[in-house]
This record gives sequence, structure tokens and C-alpha cells, in this order.
Amino acid sequence: MNDSCIFCGIVRGSAPAFKVYEDDHTLAFMDIFPVTDGHTLVITKEHCADLFAASDIALQGVMATAQRVARALRRVLAPDGLMVFQLNGAAAGQTVYHYHMHLMPRTAGEPLALHTRVPGDPARLRELATALTAAL
Ligand code: 5GP
Ligand code: ZN
Repeated sequence: MNDSCIFCGIVRGSAPAFKVYEDDHTLAFMDIFPVTDGHTLVITKEHCADLFAASDIALQGVMATAQRVARALRRVLAPDGLMVFQLNGAAAGQTVYHYHMHLMPRTAGEPLALHTRVPGDPARLRELATALTAAL
């Protein structure tokens, strides 16, 4: 754990998040600045900055959780597509240095973007988290 890391705070429960799923190695929650409706993050519970630093077991857990949450997103939102990505280093666009994978439901024709500065509506994020958890 890293005291100054926002995602470690979410793992510890000292920072709020609309949680979808957790197990021994991973946690999934709604991105607070969703680029698209349903934008979800899957993180390692262990603090590691990026792909280069993550342990095998954490990476395996993230991929299994990503598939599980992806299926829930498909059940709840039936998007046209689902983008899965993970950024390493500022040059790649990484802004939070605690390993995480993005799950981003996509609508056909929508412009591609990795980030937005517009926060999600908390009521919608809560509603989605509840629906996704129920659909796991
Ligand atoms: P990165 O750019 O590092 O791949 O992605 C970081 C993601 O974390 C961004 O999509 C950003 O919106 C999200 N994020 C940053 N701070 C918080 C937070 O405090 N809570 C949640 N739920 N998401 C956050
Ligand atoms: Zn951390």
C-alpha cells in the first residue's frame, strides 16, 4: 500500500468508489470521469505502478476480473463494442500510477477518447455499479 495513492485509498476503503466486484487480488469500480457510460476500472489490490511492476498473480487476476465485468457490462448495457486498454507511463497517457485496466463500452461511430475531465453523475455511477454487481 502507498499512502499517497488514490487507488490504494479505494482498496483500503478510505477513499470512496462505486465498487462493482472484488476478490483477493483485484477490485473493479466505476471510473469517476467516465469517457462513456459504463466505463469501469479493474485494479490490482497490491500497489504497483504499471505493467512492468505487477506480479503474475495480480495480472492473472485482473484479466479474469476484466472478463467477468466485461460480460456484466454486455448484459447490462449491450454496447456495440467494448474497448479494453491499459496505459503505462506519461507518454502513453497514464495518469494514476497504480496498475489498472480500463473497460470502456462503445457505441458505433462515437469518437475515440481515452480520458475526459467531465465527472460522471454520481446517481448514474451508483446505479451502474449496482446493476453490474447484480449481473456478475
Ligand atoms: P490512466 O490515465 O492512468 O490510465 O487512468 C486513470 C483513470 O482513473 C482515469 O480514467 C480517471 O478518470 C480515473 N480516476 C482518477 N481518479 C479517480 C478516483 O479518485 N476515483 C475513480 N473512480 N476514478 C479515478
Ligand atoms: Zn496504489
